[in-house]
Amino acid sequence: MNSHENVCLCLIVPVYNEQAVLPLFLQRTDTVLQKMGIRYEYLFIDDGSTDRSADWLKQQAANRPEIKVVTLSRNFGKEAALTAGLSLATASAVVCIDADLQDPPELIEDLYQKYVEGYDQVYAQRDNRDSDSWLKRTTAHMFYKIYNLFAAYPMPYNAGDFRLLSRRTVQALLQLPERERFMKGLFAWVGFKTAAVPYRREARPAGTTKWNYWKLWNFALNGLTASTTLPLKLCTYFGGVVSLISFLFAAWTAFKKLYWGNPVSGYTSLMVAILFFSGVQLITLGVIGEYLSRIFTEVKCRPSYLIDEKINF
Ligand code: UDP
Ligand code: MG
Repeated sequence: MNSHENVCLCLIVPVYNEQAVLPLFLQRTDTVLQKMGIRYEYLFIDDGSTDRSADWLKQQAANRPEIKVVTLSRNFGKEAALTAGLSLATASAVVCIDADLQDPPELIEDLYQKYVEGYDQVYAQRDNRDSDSWLKRTTAHMFYKIYNLFAAYPMPYNAGDFRLLSRRTVQALLQLPERERFMKGLFAWVGFKTAAVPYRREARPAGTTKWNYWKLWNFALNGLTASTTLPLKLCTYFGGVVSLISFLFAAWTAFKKLYWGNPVSGYTSLMVAILFFSGVQLITLGVIGEYLSRIFTEVKCRPSYLIDEKINF
């Protein structure tokens, strides 16, 4: 059981160009949190918005000390914004929630209930993806399938970043030093007592998504390479199998030549073999390159984000 007294809940909200929905967001979360009757605070991370989001947040913070605002020096991406929030939060429990109201604030009460029961990580799990297009649904499903096949620590299906984390979970996450932060993978890695709460993801009331398929593809690649080296191993084994077949084929060709002589032919098979093996080599090099580029990013040791301003700290 996590103690109910003196619990301070902190809402970590990454914000990137959300001026259209922020007022509604604050209104809805306020209603929920006031009803719950616990101490709470907000930690908005403005991820380099180019609209009036940051100004609006600062205005709110001026009248309400429980609204903390951090602005980053530019847009660093949601993963970095969340990391900034986690490292600045001091509350006994935090909830990571999107500003766009796709994560219904009313669910915070259920997440919190599980926390009181003693869970360290309580994630919200979408009960269906009807609101997504067929393509998005299928690709998302494939990603989870492949990820869980490859990664040592499986990720729950259809669970995003909307979740409650206890203090010690936050501290565990902060111990992970990587710069390329695939949060869903990190959440799965830290473990602790975990529970799920089902929910229905709503449509955005305003504003637009910051994702497109190219970004999602890269996000998936990042997640996969950050969590497993299995693709590299597959290349090794694949290379081994292909070498073995080549060896057998070479022996057969030599045998044929010795017994039946060598009428010149075989242009097609030669071309097919050359093209096939060049392709395999290029793909393998590509896989190595994917890892190499990420090692390069990591060894540079740059911070994942830079803070511009901190308000109400
Ligand atoms: N976000 C951010 N930095 C970014 C992109 C998005 O902080 O570079 C925030 C955004 O303001 C929102 C949350 O991350 O609060 C989720 O973004 P979005 O709704 O675009 O993602 P989706 O729900 O489509 O996955
Ligand atoms: Mg969204």
